Amino acid sequence: MLGYFFRWRAARQPFPEAWREILRMNVPFYPRLDAAARERFETKLKIFARTKHFIPTKDMAIDDTVVVTISAAAARLVMNLPGEHYQRLTEIVVYKSHYQHKEQGGTVVFGEAHTWGTVVLSYDAVIAGLKNKDDGHNTGMHEFAHVLDIVDGQFDGTPVLDEIAAYQPWAKTMGKAFFALRDKSERRAVLRRYGATNEAEFFAVATEAFFEKPRQMQKRHQELYDVLVAYYRIDPAAEAEP
Ligand SMILES: [Zn+2]
Repeated sequence: MLGYFFRWRAARQPFPEAWREILRMNVPFYPRLDAAARERFETKLKIFARTKHFIPTKDMAIDDTVVVTISAAAARLVMNLPGEHYQRLTEIVVYKSHYQHKEQGGTVVFGEAHTWGTVVLSYDAVIAGLKNKDDGHNTGMHEFAHVLDIVDGQFDGTPVLDEIAAYQPWAKTMGKAFFALRDKSERRAVLRRYGATNEAEFFAVATEAFFEKPRQMQKRHQELYDVLVAYYRIDPAAEAEP
């Protein structure tokens, strides 16, 4: 696998104090992490920030603020996971705001994950997603959840799980919640309707809600919440402000 040496070197470098300022400014969950969690998060973040290529499109400039803020969304998902989950991802293409997708007839999209190593993001959407920390909408986390999904080469809403025995309960719980979302339109739903598009979108949308509306998800979709706690090894409801 590519990148071991680069990740090793990046992990050894200290975390710049200026990056913490950026995090305090753009990333509301950051100041609430306890010391141990903060260290795990910063380690994942600095490796991501220093080993991925950030490529600007026109009108966009890449600086530390952009790199650190986008990397924060990626690091949040994997902060408690051992090992490396973004090894296939090599570049982040950054647009200033939403961009037009020619193949999709000009549909406005805010971000997308490509199977082979590229994520395309709108920086405005990433910032808005992080700052509105409890609306269940987070473009950065959504796209990076897709990257976790395709680690195994399949874009199917199922990332690599710890053990073979975990796949059956995962499929059952995610399947139940997915079909429930497709079949009924709940008012004040915890999960965005977009999650009903397909299994891959469901996992990404469930991830957004898991991190941004953990208490509601725990209350309304306990099984789904528990499966995601087991996968991400994090309990955001316990972290959330009362
Ligand atoms: Zn998506």
